[in-house]
Amino acid sequence: TPALSRPDFQLPRSHEAFVKASRVIPGGVNSPARAFGAVGGEPPFMARAEGAYLYDIDDHKYIDYIGSWGPMIVGHAHPEVRKAVVEALELGSSFGAPTVREIEIAEAVVAASPSIEKVRFVSSGTEAAMSAVRVARGVTGRDKIVKMAGCYHGHIDALLIQAGSAATTLGTPNSPGVTKGAAADTLLCPFNDAQAVAAILEANKGQVAAVLLEPVAGNMGLVPPKPGYLESLRELTEKHGTLLIFDEVMTGFRLSYGGAQERFGITPDLTALGKIIGGGLPAAAYGASSRIMDQVSPVGPIYQAGTLSGNPLAMAAGLSTLKLLREPSFYDRLEARSARLAEGLEKAAHDARVPHIVQRVGSMLTLFFHDGPVHDYEDAKRSDVALFGRFFWEMLARGVYLPCSQFEAAFVSAAHTEADVDHTIAAARESLAAIA
Ligand code: PLP
Repeated sequence: TPALSRPDFQLPRSHEAFVKASRVIPGGVNSPARAFGAVGGEPPFMARAEGAYLYDIDDHKYIDYIGSWGPMIVGHAHPEVRKAVVEALELGSSFGAPTVREIEIAEAVVAASPSIEKVRFVSSGTEAAMSAVRVARGVTGRDKIVKMAGCYHGHIDALLIQAGSAATTLGTPNSPGVTKGAAADTLLCPFNDAQAVAAILEANKGQVAAVLLEPVAGNMGLVPPKPGYLESLRELTEKHGTLLIFDEVMTGFRLSYGGAQERFGITPDLTALGKIIGGGLPAAAYGASSRIMDQVSPVGPIYQAGTLSGNPLAMAAGLSTLKLLREPSFYDRLEARSARLAEGLEKAAHDARVPHIVQRVGSMLTLFFHDGPVHDYEDAKRSDVALFGRFFWEMLARGVYLPCSQFEAAFVSAAHTEADVDHTIAAARESLAAIA
C-alpha cells in the first residue's frame, strides 16, 4: 500500500504520453470519461493492473475504485480469468461461426436472470441497449420510448438526449449529429418520479413502446430507486401495454448474481447486460422471454447482428468471471467490504464538516458533496463539483483512484482487502481535511 501523504505527486511520463496521444486521438482518449475533463487536468496513463490495484507509467500504485467502469468485479487479471482467455486464444480468436462456449454462457445468463429465457450477445453496452429498444419497438409496433433524465444507456442517437428536461417535454438532442428526428420519439422523465411516467403514458396512449431505465442509477452518481418506484413502473407499463426495459449494464451480476431485478424482485420485459458479463473483454447482451426474443433475426423479422458478437475470448473471460461470482458468499463479502467503505467515508466527511451524503447499493457507491439525499439528476447537479474535484486530486495523490466525476459511481471488487478499504478511509480523512 502506498504511503499516505505524497506532496511530490507528479505525472511527467503520463503528461508526455498525453501530449503525444492528443495529436492523434481526440482529447488523447478513446472514451471521454477517461479524460479527467470533469476534474481538470490530465489522466495518468496505465501500465498494468492486478487485483485491486492499477499501476501507471510514472510508477504510482493506486487502489482502483473504477474497475474499468464496472467490469472488474473479481479484480484485475484474476488468475482464473487469465487462464481461460489464454486457453481460448490458443484455439483461435474469432471464427464467425457458432461455438459451444456461447451455449454455456447463455445458459448461465438465463439461469441467473429472472427476466431472461433467451439472450443474444453483442459487443458493447451501447449495442445491448440499442438492440433492446429496437426489439421493444418491433414487438409493440410503437415508436416512442420513455427515458429518465440522468440515466445513460450508451451513445445511441435516440438515447443521447439532454438530461434534466421537464418531465412532459419532448427530448431535444444534446450532441451535434443527433438529428431532431432521432430525438423526437424519446420522452424524458425525472428518475424516481412514477407520477411523471404515469402522466406521459396517459398523454401518449398506445404510442409508447418502452420505459427504459437503470433500475439503480449509476450514471448520475449512485441513485437508488425510492421504495415502490420500480413496482409502480412495472404496474404502469403493464397497464399501458408498454414494455419495461432494465438497463443492467452496470447493475447486472453486480448488485446480486441476478442483478437489480433479483435484488429488488421486479421482473422487466427486456434486460440489457454488459461490463461484468465480458469479464473485462468486450461483451454485452440483451435478453427477454422466448416470445419476445424469437422475433429477432434469424427467427423473426427484427434485425440485429455483429461480426465479433459472442467472441471466443470474451465468452471465456465472461464465463470464468460468472463462475467466480457463484462461489459461496461472494456477494455477502462484497457487501460487507462496501458497507465498511461507505461508513468510513460518511464518518470522514461528517468529521470534516463538508456538505455530503454517501449513497450505496451493494458494491456501487458515491460520496456526493450534497446536503441531503440525491433522488434524481436535478439533485445530483446541485452537488459541489468544485469540492469534488479537489477531493479527487487529493485522493489520487494518496494512491486512491476514484471515478473522475461526481456523476459516476465507485465500484468495489472482491479483490479489495480490508486494509485497502482502511487505507482509502484514512486517505479520505486527510484529503477532506486538506480541502474543507
Ligand atoms: N448502459 C449503462 C447503464 C452504462 O453504464 C453504460 C456504460 O457505462 C452503457 C449502457 C454503455 O455501455 P458501453 O460503454 O459498453 O457501450
